[in-house]
Amino acid sequence: MGKKMDVVKKFWAKVERRSDNECWPWKGSFDKDGYGQIWDGNIGKMLRSHRLSAQIHHGEITGIVCHSCDNPSCCNPAHLFYGTSADNVADKIAKERQARGEKQGHSKLTEEQVAEIRKRADESYKTLTDEFNICPSTVYRIWNGDAWKHSHSRAR
Ligand SMILES: [Zn+2]
Repeated sequence: MGKKMDVVKKFWAKVERRSDNECWPWKGSFDKDGYGQIWDGNIGKMLRSHRLSAQIHHGEITGIVCHSCDNPSCCNPAHLFYGTSADNVADKIAKERQARGEKQGHSKLTEEQVAEIRKRADESYKTLTDEFNICPSTVYRIWNGDAWKHSHSRAR
């Protein structure tokens, strides 16, 4: 029990806790995949910090822990969810991004606009971010077919 507390305490000391919507960057060390890592002396194992965060906030881990924000170093529990299969995960990420895209003022895009951004992949980020009032990462995701995919595969 006492030891477990220590890991949690160590965890919080290395997380930059921000507002609920923002990513909470890991300030400790990282593994080769860019995930934060933390040593749990309790079980003698290196843990991934986002998994520990999920465990602290959401309870026992039942599957893979994924980031809806696509930021491996992020430890914000609001950005973490449990997935059971690769398919399930891809679907959920797409869904959450879409929900966020629709809710947040700065990236309110209709499907037509997304289609247009996709068509204009030879233009600069700046042109498109200015015109649609969105952030470069949104443009990037649209160009790479990663965003709003869900709306096109709903029939599945
Ligand atoms: Zn995040």
